Amino acid sequence: MKCYHVNEQGYYGEFGGAFVPEILHKAVAELQQQYLRIIESEPFQQTFRQLLRDYVGRPSPLYLANRLSEKYGCKIYLKREDLNHTGAHKINNTIGQILIAREMGKQRIIAETGAGQHGVATATVCALMNMECVVYMGKTDVERQQPNVRKMQMLGATVVPVTSGNMTLKDATNEAIRDWCSHPADTYYIIGSTVGPHPYPDMVARLQSVISEEIRQQLQEKEQRDYPDYLLACVGGGSNAAGTIYHYLDDERVKIVLAEAGGKGIDSGESAATIQLGKSGILHGSRSLVMQNEDGQIEEPYSISAGLDYPGIGPMHAHLARTGRATVLAVTDDEALRAAFELTSMEGIIPALESAHALGALAKVRFDPGDVVVLNLSGRGDKDMETYLREIERFTNKD
Ligand SMILES: *Cc1c(COP(=O)(O)O)cnc(C)c1O
Repeated sequence: MKCYHVNEQGYYGEFGGAFVPEILHKAVAELQQQYLRIIESEPFQQTFRQLLRDYVGRPSPLYLANRLSEKYGCKIYLKREDLNHTGAHKINNTIGQILIAREMGKQRIIAETGAGQHGVATATVCALMNMECVVYMGKTDVERQQPNVRKMQMLGATVVPVTSGNMTLKDATNEAIRDWCSHPADTYYIIGSTVGPHPYPDMVARLQSVISEEIRQQLQEKEQRDYPDYLLACVGGGSNAAGTIYHYLDDERVKIVLAEAGGKGIDSGESAATIQLGKSGILHGSRSLVMQNEDGQIEEPYSISAGLDYPGIGPMHAHLARTGRATVLAVTDDEALRAAFELTSMEGIIPALESAHALGALAKVRFDPGDVVVLNLSGRGDKDMETYLREIERFTNKD
């Protein structure tokens, strides 16, 4: 049997590892040695579970979307991560990591953010735990994501605008790593997805795996079997997808479909279709598929969705794609928008633009009438209203 989980060295097949500057070796090694023990300990599990229940609002519902099911000719369940506190799956991870940071005696939290969702989720748990919080955010993103910047500030975080490179997520991540290098002893870096040096991809996947744990129980109740035929999720760095598929990785009855951002089309030069266009390389501490030119320079990604606009992908997902365990589809901006307006009008749920990419994949898969499909609705669309209002006429006044 193939192995889809991380090995002792932090690898998923050829991808993963921990490529960090000398000065961070100690901090990363310490985390590698401690994370499993902490996560599996009784006190951690108790506090983590209690906060997920009483603070985040878990378990998130598994909702049978009737009209959507009828349209696509199968049974479609939506895993409602959009109903979590702060509006997405990201809070599962930040709660877990801040508990780990506290256990390791760290005083100061840093994070990177693109659209601001991970920044808000981090600032939220820092307020909750009374910890200092510094969030690095590209200056371009600071300007176009003002509501999230204001939220982080109201929550007590310091938002540092990053002016290097394209002034977006990749540059914010570089800057966060630089900060970590200057304060390796007292600072804990909360990474927002299944990326970064080992153990981050595995640690984040485990913290998000509560999603598939709940899916198993909820399907057992609703379908009298604990597995679906298909799992669908969008991938930016890969954390919501990792959580959705975690407990099904070795169950070959379950087909995995991942949707990445096709932007204006994968041949347009404006996309973030990392798995289809990327080549093996090292970015932000691990080996994975990376969008790069012939000289190994990182290419600027593009997607209408800020949460998928990243030139890399988690090593776990690169491995799932390479081994054929997951099917990866590129969903364009327009396909995602169409799917978002469709879900809104048919089910009364406005999805995040990222989640709309997973919805956009529904039209690309041939389902059988009896198929049970679980699609992870990673977040809600409040933050995307400006984009939706700008595009609404193009998608709703037709036919
Ligand atoms: C950040 C974000 C994503 C993308 O990140 P992953 O780590 O790939 O899950 C997807 N959906 C929403 C709602 C997000 O906020």
